[in-house]
Amino acid sequence: MPQDSAPSPYPDSFLTAPLTSLPGVEGKRKALFERLLGKRVIDALFHLPSQILYRREVKTISEAKEHEYITLTATVIEHCPPARRGKPYRVLCSDGNTLFEVVFFKARVDYIKNFLPLHAQRVISGKAERFLNQWKITHPDHIGSMNTLSEWVGPEPIYPLTTGITKKCVTRVISHGFQKLSIHPRKFPEWLDPSQKDWPAWQESLHKTHFPSNTLLNPSSPERMRLAYDEFLAHQLSLNLMRVHHQHRQPGQSLIGNGILRKKILDALPFQLTNSQYQALQEIDDDLQSPHQMLRLLQGDVGSGKTLVALLAMIQAIEAGYQTALLAPTDILARQHAATLQKFVQPAGLEITLLTGRETGSKRTEILERLASSQIPILIGTHAIFQESVRFAKLGLVVVDEQHRFGVDQRLALTQKGQNPDLLAMTATPIPRTLQLATYGDMDVSILKDKPAGRQPITTKVMPITRLDEIVDALGRALETNAKIYWVCPLVEESEVLDLAAAEERYIHLKHLFGDRVGLVHGQMKAQEKDAVMDQFINGSVDILIATTVIEVGVDVPAATIMVIEHAERFGLAQLHQLRGRIGRGELPATCLLLYAFPLSENGKKRLEIMRQTNDGFRIAEEDLKLRGGGELLGTRQSGFPKFRFADFDSNPDGYTELLAMANKDAREICRIDPFLQSPRGKALRLLLRLFSKDEAIKYSRSG
Ligand code: ADP
Ligand code: MG
Repeated sequence: MPQDSAPSPYPDSFLTAPLTSLPGVEGKRKALFERLLGKRVIDALFHLPSQILYRREVKTISEAKEHEYITLTATVIEHCPPARRGKPYRVLCSDGNTLFEVVFFKARVDYIKNFLPLHAQRVISGKAERFLNQWKITHPDHIGSMNTLSEWVGPEPIYPLTTGITKKCVTRVISHGFQKLSIHPRKFPEWLDPSQKDWPAWQESLHKTHFPSNTLLNPSSPERMRLAYDEFLAHQLSLNLMRVHHQHRQPGQSLIGNGILRKKILDALPFQLTNSQYQALQEIDDDLQSPHQMLRLLQGDVGSGKTLVALLAMIQAIEAGYQTALLAPTDILARQHAATLQKFVQPAGLEITLLTGRETGSKRTEILERLASSQIPILIGTHAIFQESVRFAKLGLVVVDEQHRFGVDQRLALTQKGQNPDLLAMTATPIPRTLQLATYGDMDVSILKDKPAGRQPITTKVMPITRLDEIVDALGRALETNAKIYWVCPLVEESEVLDLAAAEERYIHLKHLFGDRVGLVHGQMKAQEKDAVMDQFINGSVDILIATTVIEVGVDVPAATIMVIEHAERFGLAQLHQLRGRIGRGELPATCLLLYAFPLSENGKKRLEIMRQTNDGFRIAEEDLKLRGGGELLGTRQSGFPKFRFADFDSNPDGYTELLAMANKDAREICRIDPFLQSPRGKALRLLLRLFSKDEAIKYSRSG
């Protein structure tokens, strides 16, 4: 192959060569092969078997277990053409001990005669079957001369296929790849740190994963774990290299405040910060003061007080003479943040400006002008902030609320609005560690573990909808004591229209009973209408708020103490937890009623039971991961979880998560001591990055 003979600076160039450099990948099948395997030779070697078949050599077919794959030598005794149309062509063979039939349906006679001539000795391999005491092999996988015997004994990988490509073709292409690997004269340098762990070698690991010594594919074998570690490391290294070199070229700003504004705000707070809040703030302050760009995730359960931490961080940036922006995923939230934060910043004499799609015309023009001339210290808004026309004079810190609602591009778009402003992302969705490492491996993390003191626990009850009348009676009694109640309507098959219909129906039902104390808010209302209803719920006459899941995120109504969720079995755990987090925010004990209808699936039942048992968001997230199976949750596009070929989170979630954490640490350490990958290990790591198509990261490390 040309790639082999041509001198190349890299020992791996034959692996990164196009797939077409392997025999058999050509013509019509080229595209199919590329779709199945990938575009490069190495991608074919990364195509893992889904199953291992073991072919046992037997002296006689009578040794075989039924349905076992066997290989044996036999003599052709007699050809028995079909007696009628539709019957098979049978060839009687003897293994010296037992007579058996080789059976063909619709096969060409000349083909059969050519492969199994009378009296010839043949190696035959296939699935042994027995019917009425007669052994047979139907459509053998292999018929050949005596010297082919050894090839057809032992473990055999079975690969995932695509239409148009047979098992044989794929196996052949992949074994050609392995042949190249094995005849390759140069040894690969080891890119893993030998002191870290006793890893099996890469080549051997790859080979063994395709050809294990027994029939089981073991997703936790040392070889497979090694390959998974390689992949994690390539991924984490590229994330962190990009981050390091991005900073290297454009250092961030050092935001040092004098503490004056912050003190005014803290002094006026009616409560104490929690220990977690203090600690997170300390970590954030260190980042803000350092000349590097901050990239930090503030993670904490609903109601843990993230927003206040973010605000205090913004205040430090403002003291340092910079502007700040807070980005919220929805209009309601942006407005609510603006309203609550305004109260907090009042004592410092600061003002908060809101910019959403609803600030238009001259109002908007005025905001943009003041923003560009540095007169606005705190801007809170929605996606509207991304627009070209929104320019800051001196943007120092960007806070993104509900980080997972925004893509990485959007995150970057905002940081482009300044000289690498510091970035603080907040998420109320407790992210399991695996997900966090894999998705935000380049971000530092602060966690708010404890909740503000004095929070009342939420009691959760699970009930069938058939008890609706009873429940409505109880709500009536609660209303007499001035309770505020959320009533969440069911999700109906991803359809907003149907969701709405269900909500409206309930609205009419309850309005009939409780009159004007019932309000309705849903996703299809205009923003102003939504606000009006929310406002009535917070400050006015509405005491039962019927809602589709628009209230899911972030809304803060401390007076609300009861939540009813209809068809709770249709919601995911994370979503239920988010919803429930809307209550229990004030001084009074809170109750959450999860109403279910039959049929209740096994998983649905478990989800409700977990909700009943615990309020701990992290535990819920972990249970969620278990119930849904790591693969599914991690595979959802929304989570931005990258696809890994080797890791099998389903079979061994803890083991692979630990491995991922190790790779994260390893990658960070490499970036610290060898950011340009110059050391011998660094050079080997470049090879690793190439194998996993992380060429982008290599460019970064070279451009320094
Ligand atoms: P999160 O955004 O993490 O869900 P919030 O920041 O909305 O939580 O805080 C929830 C409520 O708790 C808000 O009303 C906030 O003012 C209040 N709060 C924040 N920190 C504390 C604290 N240390 N003690 C008491 N209440 C707090
Ligand atoms: Mg919040």
